Amino acid sequence: MKHFEVIIVGGGINGCGLLRDLALNGVSSLLIDKGDFSSQTSQGSSKMLHGGIRYLENLDFALVKEALEEKNLWLKLTPEICFEREFYLPLYNYSKYSPWMLKCGLLLYDFLSHFQNKPHQMLGPDEVLKVIPSLQNKGLKGAGKYFDGVVDDAKLALECLYDALLEPQVEALNYHEILNVTDLGERKKITYQSTLTKEKFEATCDFLVFTTGPFTDKLLPQLGYNWNPKMALSKGIHLWLKEDSIQSKGSVVLNTKDGRVVFVIPQRNSILVGTTETAVKEEIFNIQATQQDIGYLINILKEYFPKSNLSFDSIISTYAAVRPLVREEGNSENLGKVSRFHKIFRPDNKTYVLLGGKYTTFRKMTQELAQEIVPRLNKRYSPNLTLNRLRKPSLFPTFGTKPLLTEELIRKIIKEEKVQTLEDLWRRRLSAIENDQLKDFSKTIKLNDLKNYFPPNL
Ligand SMILES: Cc1cc2nc3c(=O)[nH]c(=O)nc-3n(C[C@H](O)[C@H](O)[C@H](O)COP(=O)(O)OP(=O)(O)OC[C@H]3O[C@@H](n4cnc5c(N)ncnc54)[C@H](O)[C@@H]3O)c2cc1C
Repeated sequence: MKHFEVIIVGGGINGCGLLRDLALNGVSSLLIDKGDFSSQTSQGSSKMLHGGIRYLENLDFALVKEALEEKNLWLKLTPEICFEREFYLPLYNYSKYSPWMLKCGLLLYDFLSHFQNKPHQMLGPDEVLKVIPSLQNKGLKGAGKYFDGVVDDAKLALECLYDALLEPQVEALNYHEILNVTDLGERKKITYQSTLTKEKFEATCDFLVFTTGPFTDKLLPQLGYNWNPKMALSKGIHLWLKEDSIQSKGSVVLNTKDGRVVFVIPQRNSILVGTTETAVKEEIFNIQATQQDIGYLINILKEYFPKSNLSFDSIISTYAAVRPLVREEGNSENLGKVSRFHKIFRPDNKTYVLLGGKYTTFRKMTQELAQEIVPRLNKRYSPNLTLNRLRKPSLFPTFGTKPLLTEELIRKIIKEEKVQTLEDLWRRRLSAIENDQLKDFSKTIKLNDLKNYFPPNL
């Protein structure tokens, strides 16, 4: 039976980020995920690297400052999968902020970024409408313009994973689910199973870490841990719209009348719109958007972009995910106000659980955990190693100049980027947003031939 110093369960951004940090610090580690890496919450975000301007309202200055620092770091480290863009926050007669309050907030936002953000600007109604001609002009008082990052969320986690796997003592398996944990005193033994072949395996470790995001409250009791629910699960959906469905040169942040924030972000020759915030009752693995969720967003868009030709036909595809928010004592009802801070739990001496936080700050969260585990393995922890550039960027970048997608390149991606199913390839390695293009895709690259590179049950 193979032994690892650390086994990580859950290969979203937190699992992949932690694997990288441990790998760079010379720790032998195994990461397993029930599905593909980054196929759950970490591909279902609003795809923003951001300080979270709205958290200023909750006076979460430390979170905003940390997130802005991280945003600016990743913009430098991974330009092939993220970029900086301007966001316009329109103000209306009924908005709860006046222009001067927004101005103060944006100034604080720039200040908390150590003025690394491009500077904000305040615009009058006519200036706003020049950039976003289709925006509702009734009651428009102007807008604040500020800068945040756009990221291919699935790919950043994958690139952390590829970087970690360059270290010989590191292994990672997608489509492997944890079934059992046995306490061996100084060690833990886990049993895990391939979800594709149903074959079972065992491995031991000095420390077991769960980075299973919103799945944690259900999983830990199943594995025999004494674990009370700690999360306030909240579902959010997004729409990918056709590029011509809304006339806007910039990204828009709508503060809706029902107190929500909806982003409209042009990117990848389309427009990303989200999100919603509802308590979850259904099964959350591979969660989908419902017609009700979609209708809610379409209605908001129709209200704020009355001159656009918006309909259900404008939708290219949809996706959904569940926020893994940590519940605060006495504040489990208002999901928008539940803290975006993370927490590390230690249900026993050899097990850690990392929960909450946001995508943008994953490096800091996982660093806090690595900083605790590495010395317990009698190794020295170097906090600066994760500041280096990732050594194995994606073979098919999301933004900027793309290589020609030849059959040879596809074969290389399948071989080198841990592709198991066609969906892994299409959705996460090639970053496609269409659901119904698999047919066209098979036409161009001879699907029958490609099948030889996938497991037989594809
Ligand atoms: C709608 C929405 C919008 C968001 N927008 C933003 C944003 O714009 N910017 C931002 O910074 N943050 C955003 N976030 C937050 C961010 O997406 C999450 O904080 C982050 O992705 C959580 O990552 P994770 O690794 O903890 O969880 P996950 O990505 O869910 O990873 C957990 C993994 O555990 C695996 N797993 C589960 N059970 C098992 C098992 N039995 N065995 C093995 N593996 C298992 C799952 O397959 C999964 O891959 C958003 C979140 C949501 C839901």
